[in-house]
Amino acid sequence: MTHKPAEVVTADIVVIGAGSAGCAVAGRLAEQGRDVLLLEAGPDYGPVDSGRWPAELLSARMLATSHDWGYRSGRWNFERARVMGGCSSHNGAIAAVGHRADYDAWGLPGWTGAEVEPLFHTVIERMRVRAYERREAGPFHARCMDAATALGWPIASDLCDLDAGPSFGMETVNIVGDTRWNAAFAYLDHVRGGSLRILDHVMVDRLLSWGGAAGDDGVRVAAHRLGDPITIEAGTLVLAGGAYGTPLILERSGIGDPAVLAAAGVDVRAELPGVGTNLHDHPMVHADREVGPRLQQWLDEAAATGFLPEEQTLGKFVSSVSLDGLYDTHLFPVCASDQTSFLYGGVHVEVACVTPLSRGTVHIASADPSAHPLIDHGYLTDTAGVDGGSHDLAVLRDGLVHAERLLDQPQLAEVLGARITDMSTDQAIRDTVAHYYHPVGSCPMGVGPMSVCDPDGRVHGVPGVVIADASLMPQIPRGNTNLPAVMIGERIARTL
Ligand SMILES: Cc1cc2nc3c(=O)[nH]c(=O)nc-3n(C[C@H](O)[C@H](O)[C@H](O)COP(=O)(O)OP(=O)(O)OC[C@H]3O[C@@H](n4cnc5c(N)ncnc54)[C@H](O)[C@@H]3O)c2cc1C
Repeated sequence: MTHKPAEVVTADIVVIGAGSAGCAVAGRLAEQGRDVLLLEAGPDYGPVDSGRWPAELLSARMLATSHDWGYRSGRWNFERARVMGGCSSHNGAIAAVGHRADYDAWGLPGWTGAEVEPLFHTVIERMRVRAYERREAGPFHARCMDAATALGWPIASDLCDLDAGPSFGMETVNIVGDTRWNAAFAYLDHVRGGSLRILDHVMVDRLLSWGGAAGDDGVRVAAHRLGDPITIEAGTLVLAGGAYGTPLILERSGIGDPAVLAAAGVDVRAELPGVGTNLHDHPMVHADREVGPRLQQWLDEAAATGFLPEEQTLGKFVSSVSLDGLYDTHLFPVCASDQTSFLYGGVHVEVACVTPLSRGTVHIASADPSAHPLIDHGYLTDTAGVDGGSHDLAVLRDGLVHAERLLDQPQLAEVLGARITDMSTDQAIRDTVAHYYHPVGSCPMGVGPMSVCDPDGRVHGVPGVVIADASLMPQIPRGNTNLPAVMIGERIARTL
């Protein structure tokens, strides 16, 4: 049997993964004329006006599902996009930054609230973030605003604010017209054709050598492009494969916890026990109601005549078990208008604990890059609550009270039907807990034995390899994670 020799591609800086953070890193370096190669497992459809982007990925009306890695465990799907722009190309396009206290709590140089604030200003501008105006609210969300006002909840004009307090308001979004403004449009369109090279359909398998092992200071990487082997040679390698993708590449390379690597049949080349640990997300449950006939008619009419997003309003609440007195709960109503949405037939008020303490893991099952990972988020497994119960569950229980209050307000109750799901018990919360699509933290920055990289993303003991994505967050911010991931890209690019 003959093997095709691997094509060799070389660049000063190679970025693996064209997601939210990877696009920011590659785009920023390309703006400086640096020699950058950006590798992405999924397809590149070109700039926003290429005419090649599938309508589903452009439309910000609801989540897109066509370009997914297909990860699953138990009853959960763990959606992750495999396309230029990464998850910013199929997400809800809700723009949030968390609270400045989140970054201060990381306790790491270069990441305090004051230091990330100017980066966020840049990200907000690049990602074309704006707040929906009140007059843009669809029939359901207009009534949510009325109900929240009647309840006396403080109404915010800008939810995308590091100093925001508890409040309810129209969402801030990175949507232009009805187009989801992904990180590729924001960071790559204007540098395409310059010093940036993009190779799509490249599935990166593992690192072959690093830091002098091959007789130089560079990093060599094994990958496949549309079935053909390629070898990548990088001066500096930036891992931006996301909270699932990045630890998997490290583990396939023999970098990780020896026990995990042994179980997967991979030889240990660098012992780093924190790889794939500290995985967490915002756990989420919902209160729901059937849609009444009048509301359904208004929704169908609104959808037929214009842009009707499923999500438009959001609230931040302080639970009775808040760890620091700041808001720790997101509450956001969701309403679909037609049968293409998984929510058809009901409205939800989603409730998320945005200061989770539960932790899980993501690890390789084998050395085969096409094998799906082993993902265990450990939702609601923390024991930091009263009497050793789960703090995260207690936050959700409190949040459901606000959600029910909102749905019971006359402005909503008169156009809604019966409750669909009984959420009155802790067991119901455990049985239905879902996630907010925000996995982070699986290669945390820091200095302790379980940290994977330093505060500039440099992987401990693996010279030439830098992490730049949501995996390096030690603790998730109390907000949606797309803008924070882009901010990480901006921040790491400044160190390269
Ligand atoms: C359905 C959904 C809805 C969401 N809604 C919102 C929202 O409304 N607001 C918000 O702020 N956040 C939202 N998020 C979360 C947010 O989009 C993510 O936190 C953010 O995009 C993560 O950025 P990242 O750069 O860390 O990773 P990603 O964007 O996931 O990028 C990783 C990239 O690396 C590529 N890759 C991985 N492994 C390899 C490999 N081996 N070889 C080559 N390429 C590889 C992937 O294909 C991908 O393009 C949502 C996420 C999902 C999935």
